[in-house]
Amino acid sequence: MTGRFAPTPSGRMHIGNVYAMLAAWLSSRSCGERMLLRIEDVDKPRVIAGADQLMMDDLRWLGFDWDNADSPMYQSRRTERYEYALECLQNVSMDESMQSVLYPCFCSRADIRAASAPNEGDGFMVYPGTCRRLLQDHPEEVQARLAQGDQHSMRIAMPQSSPDRDASFDDCVYGRQQYDLPREVGDSVIRRADGLFGYQLVVVVDDLDMGVDDIVRGRDLLRSTALQMWIRHCLLAGGFKPECGIVIANPEYAHLPLIDNAAGRRLAKRERSLDMGALRARGVTPEQIIGFCAWLLRIRPTSEPVTAAELLNDFSWQPLHTNHPDRALDPEDPNTPQWLADAL
Ligand code: GLU
Repeated sequence: MTGRFAPTPSGRMHIGNVYAMLAAWLSSRSCGERMLLRIEDVDKPRVIAGADQLMMDDLRWLGFDWDNADSPMYQSRRTERYEYALECLQNVSMDESMQSVLYPCFCSRADIRAASAPNEGDGFMVYPGTCRRLLQDHPEEVQARLAQGDQHSMRIAMPQSSPDRDASFDDCVYGRQQYDLPREVGDSVIRRADGLFGYQLVVVVDDLDMGVDDIVRGRDLLRSTALQMWIRHCLLAGGFKPECGIVIANPEYAHLPLIDNAAGRRLAKRERSLDMGALRARGVTPEQIIGFCAWLLRIRPTSEPVTAAELLNDFSWQPLHTNHPDRALDPEDPNTPQWLADAL
């Protein structure tokens, strides 16, 4: 099997990112699998110059390794692959109709917000299908708007009939997950109106090209997994040939509880006192950080210092599977080490 860590270089890593890397690294390395690094810099406005190098330096300092150290994957260098993926999707038709699963969408964010049901806090807005109906009912209007160069994104349509509309998978941490794609996910952006490829497409293309079959990441992406399973299915149905030469139709998934700060908000790269730069400058050791993350993952009963390599022999998803509420960094908790309480 092959695992990966796929950070966005939008700032210095914090404890939450280290915890995610530790889980991904242990999941693959504890079984002697490959581990790959991918820099998710497709969303250029969010990228901070040099953050990728600092990230790799922090990861090495923490005791991690990865197999593509000489040439980590950078999304910003892969536009051709994403264009090829779009061509593959164009060939796939929707249900019984002859229409492609891809369609142009002229809606603005405000239009969508006004027409959507409230989302469940994972940033997902279920698109009401306005432009899919426009294409069905008034294809000539769509052609005319495209011909006059109206700005548009490209969306992938969700299947409307069973069994395709049900996306289910067994998560190593959260167990059986089931989503009704049209109702809970909705038609999703594959290429943005500004021309950038969307996160949901590029992640699937990259995972396919790298031969990744062990996907570990935060639980805020559970619903994205249902969507990504459909994108993967459509890509393969459209003849997509992975660069690695192996077709992974169904990867394994493990989603992690989220880490909140002391005020109950999700950790963000803005929290400078908890970032790796601040911790390293204050003399905190890799073993102290790894020990705390191992406790967050419930693979150690306490947050005693430990190296990543020392955790390899006993790694299992079981403790997290039986105990997976989100974690809050709490200065009062006896397992919060002093170096961390000082930073909170
Ligand atoms: N780049 C994403 C993040 O930093 C991870 C995406 C993924 O694992 O699919 O949260």
